[in-house]
Amino acid sequence: MRRALEILKKTYGYDSFRGQQAEIIGHIIGGGNAFVLMPTGAGKSLCYQIPALCRDGAGIIISPLIALMQDQVAALLQLGVRAAAINSSMTAEHISNTKNAIRNGVIDLVYVAPERLLMADFLELLQQSPLALFAKDEAHCVSQWGHDFRPHYVQLSALARRFPTVPRVALTATADAPTRKDIIGRLHLHDGKTFLGGFDRPNIHYAIMIKDNPKQQLLRFIKHGHAGDSGIVYCLSRKQADETAAWLREEGFNALAYHAGMTGEARALSQARFLREDSIIMVATIAFGMGIDKPDVRFVAHLNLPKSIEVYYQETGRAGRDGLPADGWMAYGLQDVITLRQMQENSVADEQHKRVERHKLDAMLGLCELTSCRRQALLRYFGDKLDHPCGNCDNCLTPPATWDASVAAQKALSCVHRTGQRFGVNYLVDVLRGSDHERIKQFGHDKLTTYGIGKEHSAIEWKNLYRQLISRGLLNVDIEGHGGLHLTDAARPVLRGEEKLHLRKVTKAEKPERKRNEKQFKQAADSTLWEALRQKRKQLAEEQGVAAYVIFHDATLMEMVERQPQTLEQLGLISGIGARKLDAYGEAFLEVICESAQPATITDTIAETVTLLCRGLDPVAIAHQRNLTLNTVYSHLTKAIESGEVELEDVITLEKHELQAIQLAFEQSDDGKIKPVYEALEGAYEYGVLQCVRATLAPQH
Ligand code: ADP
Ligand code: ZN
Repeated sequence: MRRALEILKKTYGYDSFRGQQAEIIGHIIGGGNAFVLMPTGAGKSLCYQIPALCRDGAGIIISPLIALMQDQVAALLQLGVRAAAINSSMTAEHISNTKNAIRNGVIDLVYVAPERLLMADFLELLQQSPLALFAKDEAHCVSQWGHDFRPHYVQLSALARRFPTVPRVALTATADAPTRKDIIGRLHLHDGKTFLGGFDRPNIHYAIMIKDNPKQQLLRFIKHGHAGDSGIVYCLSRKQADETAAWLREEGFNALAYHAGMTGEARALSQARFLREDSIIMVATIAFGMGIDKPDVRFVAHLNLPKSIEVYYQETGRAGRDGLPADGWMAYGLQDVITLRQMQENSVADEQHKRVERHKLDAMLGLCELTSCRRQALLRYFGDKLDHPCGNCDNCLTPPATWDASVAAQKALSCVHRTGQRFGVNYLVDVLRGSDHERIKQFGHDKLTTYGIGKEHSAIEWKNLYRQLISRGLLNVDIEGHGGLHLTDAARPVLRGEEKLHLRKVTKAEKPERKRNEKQFKQAADSTLWEALRQKRKQLAEEQGVAAYVIFHDATLMEMVERQPQTLEQLGLISGIGARKLDAYGEAFLEVICESAQPATITDTIAETVTLLCRGLDPVAIAHQRNLTLNTVYSHLTKAIESGEVELEDVITLEKHELQAIQLAFEQSDDGKIKPVYEALEGAYEYGVLQCVRATLAPQH
């Protein structure tokens, strides 16, 4: 473990292990197998990378995502780690070199896709080579219960037999209890140790709301606190993704689309730009995102309901991997609920599968309609626990009002019953509100006892009630796809008045979210430095063709702003700066920090002095008003003159001959110091005045 800690510090630039990392790493270095379940951003990569660096031979990392391997390798190379990927996009020569390196034990980490790993000749090669470990990333792909099943993953079970002495570790961020069991079984990890990290992502703020002009809601959300940020917007259909991206571009954002309907090339381009550039909004279908380890995604927005909490948690989990504040935001509506219910009923899966899926969707809908802490519910779903409401979700921050909906629900359910359990929500609402539509009369529904008994609620309120009744499983949607509703057994007790229903009250269009997450800097100068550091990072990243975050994470740049290190040694103490990066980029960033510390910038306090000057106050009056010494005011004004903000004559009135005398005195003093000039002029002018005059002279002074 001493060596592991040394690598953590020297190679990665981090001070200490997080959570269970040390325990997991120790276990694998010792040769044990492991199943690691930790949320995104918890630091799973280190759990296999460091053991691979400590043990002899290559660590073989199996990842389903060929497109992303190159980025992972690039990040490791930046750290000075010997790493490579093998996949179909590489030249034969490159592959052959990597294979030799594996055989000779001179490479530490090799990324391969399962298809490649399972090829006979590759397995053969591995059997003749020293191996540190096998790591299966995104291990939920092995499970049919997970949401990303990949048939090739199942065959990875063969590794246990063929390489009984090589430690195997499977890692994933999302897996509920059945999926977990499935993974352990299929990958033969019974003899290994299971590490369940806490599931919480405390830096993510969750908010779920009812759709009410979703585009505007999204726009408001992005504008309030996420302008200029990287983010992902998930849509259900390709068309919606294209349209939303185009619309965001019109609104002035840097938005790209990503979906299965695009060519592979176009998708790869979108993805590469998202990874490499700052502040791109990716508008995508679920086809996007797995394995994306971009650390500075500041928000994930859903314009539709995901089909399970696992999917929701996985997708929102792509925000804020760097630990800085991030948002998981969602808007959903009645139509989403109906569509998902129908898709599920229509699916060709067998009954057992359907039951599992139904259960998952119910849990997702439950989360949406929830009136208490979202995080507590999310964690409970994954078998984790949070004792107190989190204080960082919409329900905690603005507790929703609830109402006793028992009577209204009785009316709504009875209307379904009386109309024959075959009509959709809009029709039912019309009947309840006593509309005089022709169709209602044709069916004779204007004669029903439920006709017009719901005038006390608006149509929107009724629709919301129906949505909640569907969400709670009191009503089902027909299979034929017309949206007809029928009662379930769960509706009976409510209909008979035996059960009370307390539901979330719909508030008309939520207030705009408070401005959160905006990077807060104490001084204007800090935000200037932040931008300058980002600019430098961008330039270095472009020179090397890597993503900006591969150079340094936002969190690392933030720390630079806070601490303003002045030497390489001080810089090296900042989290995320290991030996290799300090060497490669230290000077460049120090230079930026030093430049920004120069006095030529007009800071807030100087600006205030200048404002007073412009209002006609002279330096003495300004000093008096601002309770500053006269010297300080003059030094503010000197800087303002240097930067061209004000002219000398705005500050002091001197006769022409006086000015010439002072200038002459400066020319005769060799180094431009004030004191000799002051003395030469026999104290006729204050230091501050001389300083201001000096600021107008040629730079040799
Ligand atoms: P995961 O794979 O679990 O989603 P990563 O391995 O990508 O998470 O790690 C998330 C971020 O946290 C990365 O930027 C990583 O460098 C950083 N990180 C991991 N372990 C530590 C640690 N011990 N100290 C500081 N930062 C860490
Ligand atoms: Zn909460």
